[in-house]
Amino acid sequence: MGRDGDFSPCPRGSIAYILLMPEYKSLTAAEIAAGVNAGKLSAATLTEEALSLAKTEGKRLNAFITLCEEKALKQAQAIDREVREGGAAPRILAGVPVALKDNICYTDYETTCGSHILDKFIPPYDATCVTRLIEAGAVIIGKTNMDEFGMGSSNENSYFGPVKNPVNHELVPGGSSGGSAAAVAQGIVPIAYGSDTGGSIRQPAAFCGVYGLKPTYGSVSRYGLVAFGSSLDQIGPLARNARDLALGYQAICGRDDHDATSADCGHPDDTVEIKTGRKFKIGIPAEYFAEGLDPEVETVVRDVIELLEKAGQTFTDISLPLTDKAIAAYYIVANAEASSNLARYDGVRYGLREGGDGELADMYAATRTAGFGDEVKRRIMLGTYALSAGYYDAYYLKASRVRELIRRDFRKAFEKVDLIITPTTPTLAFRLGEKIDDPLAMYLSDVYTVPVNLAGIPAISVPGGHSSDGRPVGVQFTAPRFDELALFQMALCLERND
Ligand code: GLN
Repeated sequence: MGRDGDFSPCPRGSIAYILLMPEYKSLTAAEIAAGVNAGKLSAATLTEEALSLAKTEGKRLNAFITLCEEKALKQAQAIDREVREGGAAPRILAGVPVALKDNICYTDYETTCGSHILDKFIPPYDATCVTRLIEAGAVIIGKTNMDEFGMGSSNENSYFGPVKNPVNHELVPGGSSGGSAAAVAQGIVPIAYGSDTGGSIRQPAAFCGVYGLKPTYGSVSRYGLVAFGSSLDQIGPLARNARDLALGYQAICGRDDHDATSADCGHPDDTVEIKTGRKFKIGIPAEYFAEGLDPEVETVVRDVIELLEKAGQTFTDISLPLTDKAIAAYYIVANAEASSNLARYDGVRYGLREGGDGELADMYAATRTAGFGDEVKRRIMLGTYALSAGYYDAYYLKASRVRELIRRDFRKAFEKVDLIITPTTPTLAFRLGEKIDDPLAMYLSDVYTVPVNLAGIPAISVPGGHSSDGRPVGVQFTAPRFDELALFQMALCLERND
């Protein structure tokens, strides 16, 4: 059901363009920006290359829902022109092709959220992160596939069909930012953006073998991000190396008057010059290495710990006692917020409308019945139930209390350590179709990622190694609020093995 079929045939250019082809995939975002700022690389050529890859390899993976070809080429040409004319300040993502998860509003193109209910919806404004990306010189080449409204861990809940994992096409890429992770892992773009409500950046990053950051709640504006669970949602980057991830974050973070929950997160310039060599005290929480953890995942994480220990990092055992309550609390809080946020899709002002000739209530019902997929309906019902009179105290209030205790657990742990190391996911990337009929098994994929969202703190997934059959394993580092810099430094240590 992918919309890739609508893409026009890929235009092939000059010999120089063809010569550049094998190189594009190996260029980092930092190299692209440096080359474009210096006039040595053409943003337009790179953009054509990224678009061409999106139409071929991206199409095979079903990674994109929409390509933004016309605007991308114009943006890229404008950047090249600016560099040629001289005088403009260098931009940190000059000419870097990027992709956006399709729940981030970008004018002139549809924002679908992987759903049928937003049929033909074109947002009237750009998300703040989009405005900042354009100011930073990035070129938005397309909107990536995702689980409907961000609800899922495999990208199989998309109206536009599942995404394939670039490592092995029979495996899920993870979700809900599966298209963004696949586009980065396949080398179509060096940086893509996702959103993370309970793990949707980190889990697909782990399954596809790339880097993914869930920033501190409030450090990236949510203005223009279609809401799922507003107290949990954060936009963040996915990239193929630590430095690009830091650049991708730096370009979008910081206070925004359009989002009252956004915060001034310090001096973003610090994150660009991330340096290795810093020694951390790292906590190992016993609860994350307990039953349910795939031994192959555990082996990789333990190997990483050993490697870092040899490199002079210090480890200490810690406890996060409420870890096993996080999934239950998350699925109450997230679904309650989702049931409220998704009430706006009623067929009146935009998106799909069904049964428009009858009574208003019938039109609402027909539209929502036809427009939402099964998982979204399940969550709206669960969330509505949890919020209903008589049940509020038993569910939502209780979950909010557990949330506060989880927050406290982390606060206490960070009195003793700088960072916490855990697996990103309990299992390896699973097969397409393997868990789709078992929502509980799917929800358990998030067991190590949701506590971080409940606590509002930042975490990163770093490629740690592979299973015996070559499936990527992600290692998660968690930091105190607003210490993204420590996460980038740690990721760089591991990348450079020092
Ligand atoms: N997989 C989790 C869920 O289905 C997290 C989703 C997300 O982070 N958007 O809710």
